[in-house]
Amino acid sequence: MAANDPLMGEIKGAQTREVGGVRVDVSPVGAGRVKRIIYPAGFRWSTNMKPIVHTDLCMHAHVGFLVRGHVQVRYADGCVADFIAPAAVAIDPGHDGAVVGSEPAVLIEFDFEGDTAKRFGMPDIHRH
Ligand SMILES: [Zn+2]
Repeated sequence: MAANDPLMGEIKGAQTREVGGVRVDVSPVGAGRVKRIIYPAGFRWSTNMKPIVHTDLCMHAHVGFLVRGHVQVRYADGCVADFIAPAAVAIDPGHDGAVVGSEPAVLIEFDFEGDTAKRFGMPDIHRH
């Protein structure tokens, strides 16, 4: 990738952390946060994050915009959602997720920490 790639470069003022191979840059905004999340190729939540998080599925809501890559989400009931950049992203709590293909996925996400689903009017867990 290009050294000056704006999707991957350092974000001034952001707090950077890495968990389960995922790089997260967090910028606080009012009651919420803007995050850039870089999921490496080969990432799978149930393999890389579940041992850290200790829940059966990812219970976060994800709202944002996928600017690079392909993310596939699978819910407990078997529903599958594919997001291929460029794509708006809305993922209910209660999912496994994986990066498809050989390039990292870059997601720009907006959240309200533990209150994200409620604040966006999303269900607290995936249902129909
Ligand atoms: Zn479903």
